[in-house]
Amino acid sequence: MNNISIGSIETALVTGASGGIGRAIARNLADSGRFVYLNYHSNEKCAQQTLDQIKKQGGNGALVQFDVKDRDAAETAVKKIISEKEKIDILVNNAGIRDDKLMVRMKEESWHQVLDTNLTGFFNVSRLVVKNMLSKRYGRIINISSTSGQIGQAGQVNYSASKAGLIGATKALAKEIASRNITVNAVAPGFIETEMVDGVPLEQIAQSIPAGRLGRPEEVADAVRFLCSRQAAYITGQVLGINGGIC
Ligand code: NAP
Repeated sequence: MNNISIGSIETALVTGASGGIGRAIARNLADSGRFVYLNYHSNEKCAQQTLDQIKKQGGNGALVQFDVKDRDAAETAVKKIISEKEKIDILVNNAGIRDDKLMVRMKEESWHQVLDTNLTGFFNVSRLVVKNMLSKRYGRIINISSTSGQIGQAGQVNYSASKAGLIGATKALAKEIASRNITVNAVAPGFIETEMVDGVPLEQIAQSIPAGRLGRPEEVADAVRFLCSRQAAYITGQVLGINGGIC
């Protein structure tokens, strides 16, 4: 039988923790007693505010700035965390961008920026983390994909490709490391109320969602917390949709 209690304080790294969903995930994991490293790229102010809120509520964590597109910077940051805490128990690959246009009008740069951030970013951050988890024989990796990666979205050929790629990577990596007590899962949010959906006609979209409303970042965070738990030990290589019934 699995030991379902957390023996020592777990260390979590959440990328993109200065944005709406990452912020909610970082707070939720800190609320449940984890020491959380909050990664940000450009928005130090929001990351710091989130860390302040975490500490005010009795949690603990630290900020870690790097660009997930930059493999050297990501690996340097991961090495520093491991030198401080010895281990990373939980990795949430959440950092992401969108840059929507119909494909015939899409610039090559837009294709590469989105793929480099959303998909290569996963590779850049995860490689050394996985090595550490393998040596500790434990880990939880959650990749934030999207409904767009499951069913495709017009105007998001780059974004949908990156998020579908993340699902493939999740399933393949899960098979590589399942025997070492490391699970790898994806969550696929639908429309969630964050800055990322600024400029999207939300009222119109809400009507097309079976649940009749957008999701909240906290609802994504609750699902991530479950997948990070000891109780989720037998769930790996899965994609959990959080989308109000869109698909
Ligand atoms: P958001 O509020 O725009 O936050 C995006 C986060 O990603 C920010 O913290 C940002 O950091 C970070 N980021 C962007 N580029 C980065 C880079 N190169 N290196 C490191 N961090 C970087 O968006 P969100 O809605 O919370 O989205 C979070 C994740 O959920 C994304 O992967 C997104 O694709 C996915 N998702 C969102 C929705 C939705 O409806 N909101 C739906 C499905 C999936 P800085 O601000 O510090 O630069």
